Order: sequence, then structure tokens, then C-alpha cells
Amino acid sequence: MPNFDKKKLLACVRCGKCRSVCPILPFKGYETYSARGKMVTIDAYLNNLLAQENSQYFVDRIYDCLLCGHCKVVCPSGLDTTHILKEMRTHFVNSELSIPSPVVKFFSRDIDETGNIFNFPKEDRNIWMEGQTNFNIKKDAKILYFVGCISSILGKPGKTARSFVQILNKADIDFTILGEDEICCGNPYLLLGDNSTAKKLALQNVTNILKKGADLVVTSCPGCYKTFKQEYPILLGEKMDFEVKHASEFIMDLIDNRKISFKKSSKSITYHDPCELGRYCGVYEAPRKILENIPSLKFVEMPYNKESSHCCGGGGGFKVVNPDLSLEIALNRLKEAESIGVQTISSLCPACDMNLLEASLKYEKKIGVVDLIELVLELMD
Ligand code: SF4
Ligand code: SF4
Repeated sequence: MPNFDKKKLLACVRCGKCRSVCPILPFKGYETYSARGKMVTIDAYLNNLLAQENSQYFVDRIYDCLLCGHCKVVCPSGLDTTHILKEMRTHFVNSELSIPSPVVKFFSRDIDETGNIFNFPKEDRNIWMEGQTNFNIKKDAKILYFVGCISSILGKPGKTARSFVQILNKADIDFTILGEDEICCGNPYLLLGDNSTAKKLALQNVTNILKKGADLVVTSCPGCYKTFKQEYPILLGEKMDFEVKHASEFIMDLIDNRKISFKKSSKSITYHDPCELGRYCGVYEAPRKILENIPSLKFVEMPYNKESSHCCGGGGGFKVVNPDLSLEIALNRLKEAESIGVQTISSLCPACDMNLLEASLKYEKKIGVVDLIELVLELMD
């Protein structure tokens, strides 16, 4: 049985507030796509009231979710919807019920061999810094930059990671990386329900980080950040021997300590809060403070921001099962940014960045998409 008290489901008063914020419901229309519908069907399933012929439909709907957490923040009963949904996925992975075939395919990739979610050869982990002969990266250091699968291999490709290294070098910060020993943080496995693979990856990463002598891990990916900070202590049953910061918090510290400053910019820009950085980890201020520190830059808030931010469509493993709808949801976010008349939408997540960029190309949108880390490097004095 899933790892939560099924009585918690009784707290759902069927108010439907979660329906009004779900990014998927407007596209699909059926109640079973909303958190309310999911809570009702989970309750029926756990009480053996779900007809056998509906079980596959039920499993598929639990995977039709971005785990964006928007339903959780509006729920007047305080239901931890994302926890319940993730626990259901873990239950499906460990039970006889068939999980969607794209998820099976994802799990069949040889993560033990490659260490990355894209099935690229292990040696490709450092592809993002190919040809960068002037990077100053120490063998061992107190600060370790954990790059992440997307930023290392697919994200743009490698531009955000290279930018962050250049920022650290310009600010004269000693740091190290795991290099070819870096493997997936485990987040995609946790999101899709394979906790045992995630635990194996966590153990390996923590061992390698401690070998480097690091006491601070900095990540540019909110998924890695949330996983190191919130999930590793649960998975491994102990407090981590290192602190964890997102790159935006680290950059803010550099600004506060006058290690970096900015030149003037006439750009107009908005900021999209990644779900895993914002709603999950509460990092709202650092990105905004960075933008406010850039002289003359015009920063305009998105119509839906911070806790009420709309998801980019790329979260929760949703892109694995629904790549097309994922881009349509990203298109909605781009339209919201266009509606406030800015030139560029920035974010701080390689998955958001990739999804928004892919949607802007597919739907021929003129608005620019940038990771805030790249902008920081571009505008640093
Ligand atoms: S907002 Fe919460 S209480 Fe209301 S229907 Fe949704 S899950 Fe149930
Ligand atoms: S987590 Fe997001 S996508 Fe999933 S049911 Fe809640 S609002 Fe909808």
C-alpha cells in the first residue's frame, strides 16, 4: 500500500479550488485530470471500490500530472496532493499495475552504466565544458558545483553550466565539480515512482561529494536542489554533511559580498518561478533581488507569480508521457509573458528553460528565453 494515511483523503471537501489552477484540466476537461478527481479515485482504489476495468485509466491519470504543486497551495484542507500523487506512483511501480509505456521505457535505460537520464555514454557528462581551456576548476574544494543531467548534456547545450562556471571564476571563487563521476541526482526517478533507484543514486552522489571535501553543494537545477535538500535526508535517513544552495542564492551572496556587480541594461524582462524552486523550496526572493540589482533593467512580474506561478509544462515527469501537451502548456506561459510586453522571459531551471525555448521555436514566438544565470554573466561588470 502507498506510504500515506488513507484517512488524509477524507480531508478533501470537494470544493474544486484545485480545478481552477490545474494547467492540464483546461486541455483535457475530465475531472480525473484534476487533483479533486485524483483524490476521489485514489480513495476509491484504496477502499477496493474501483472497478478492475478502470484500473489502467486510473494509473494513467496519476501520471497525467505535472506535480506542479499549484493544487496543494490553494487547497483549503491542506492536502499534500503532490506527496499523495508521488506515493501512488511509487506504489504502482512496486505493484502489479502497468505503468505507462513511456515510463517503462524511461526506466529501462541503463542508469547504472551511463549515470544520466538521456542514455548518453558516461564520458559525455563533461560535454558541456568541451573546449573550455581557461576554466579554473579545482580538484578538491569546499564548494562543489553539481551540474545536473540537463545542464550537462542537453540543456542548450551546456550554456547555463558554462555561464555559472565563468561567474564563479570571475568572482574568484574556489570550487570543484564531480566531472565524469557526477551522476543523476535521482529526481526523475522519484517523480516517476522508482525510489530505490533514486536512493542508489543518492548514496553514490553523497559518497563522491564527501570524497571531494565539499561542505557546500551549489546546483543550477531546482530539481537537483530540491532533491539534495529535501529528499536525500529522507531517502538516506540522515542529515547531509553539507549545505545545499541554489545558484541564485549563491549569486545573491556574491552580490551582497560585493564580489560581483552589474553594468547598465536597457532590457525588459520577466521571471518565471520554476515550481521546484518556488512552491517546493520557497526560493522567491533571490532571483528578484538579482534582477533588481541590475541598473536600469526593467523587471516586470508575470501576471501569475511566486506561489501562484503557472507551471511551464515540463515538470513531474509529464514530458516523458505527454511531450506535445507539455509544449502547449509552455505556450500558455509564453503568451502570459508576451501580455506584459517584455522582450524576454527568464527562469532558473534547465527544464523550464528547455521547455519554454522548445515551445517558442515550435510556435514561432518572438519573445526571448534565457536562464537568469546566463543573463548574470552577460551583464556582469
Ligand atoms: S482544493 Fe483540496 S479540498 Fe478542494 S477539491 Fe481540491 S483537493 Fe479537495
Ligand atoms: S500538481 Fe499541478 S498538474 Fe498535478 S493535479 Fe495538481 S495542479 Fe494539476
